[in-house]
Amino acid sequence: MAIRFFAWGGRVTETDDTRQARWDATLIDTHVHLNSPEFVTDLDEVLERARAAGVQRFLCPGYDLPSSRGAAELSRRERNIHAAVGVHPHDARLYDDATEEALESLLEQPGVVAVGETGLDYHYDHSPRDVQRHVFRRHLQLARRHNQPVVVHNRESEADLAEILESEATGLRLVLHAFGGARELIALGAELDLFYGIGGFVTFKNHPLAERVRDLPRSALLLETDAPYLSPHPMRGRRNEPARVEIIARRLAELLDMSLEELATLTTRNFERFVRGS
Ligand SMILES: [Zn+2]
Repeated sequence: MAIRFFAWGGRVTETDDTRQARWDATLIDTHVHLNSPEFVTDLDEVLERARAAGVQRFLCPGYDLPSSRGAAELSRRERNIHAAVGVHPHDARLYDDATEEALESLLEQPGVVAVGETGLDYHYDHSPRDVQRHVFRRHLQLARRHNQPVVVHNRESEADLAEILESEATGLRLVLHAFGGARELIALGAELDLFYGIGGFVTFKNHPLAERVRDLPRSALLLETDAPYLSPHPMRGRRNEPARVEIIARRLAELLDMSLEELATLTTRNFERFVRGS
């Protein structure tokens, strides 16, 4: 499924030809908050820069109800933007039956392809941990009812996350977004249909992920930025944007001893399976 990358504004220049020759598949940013207030003023330019860097498709997760509606709205407007809908563990305490009903109806919309982001965050503890676990379980049940994959957030909560996934996620497709390399979550991939969202961490100096990506099944790798957060090296601390998937992809390709084009083809195929299940 090779889609050719194009020229800026329809002008074919030498640079475009070089790029076209180098590329035969697209890069996909599988976790990008295009619905974030940080992109309100320049979203069109951000998307244009992404496309110029070969990043042609986007999965935009919600983090609360308004941002889930925002993601669904973007997916209606742009064919290459897909949406996930859900409530981030930070806001788990705000989740109630009315929220769930609203998410259910968003999940009926054609551009909405996943549930999330959901999960556990024991670093910030913005919501009580028992509430986070309960709401995470409800998201997994929601995904099962709608036959959708799940975008999972985890921070310093590996043991509880693994326990919930083991008991509730058999048969579901899940991506561990912004994967940090936790060994117990690599091991869990043997039992569950887990994908690993590889982002900026892989570019950081001395980050354990750089070693451990080689232990992950290649068929489980997805690329992501988590923009506007988690800028890759050497832009750490600045607003991230989806064009930087290219930086992450180059680093991952180098670590796996693959060409960039092979990696683009692989991760595009993986994303198709994540979304469609085949
Ligand atoms: Zn996110």
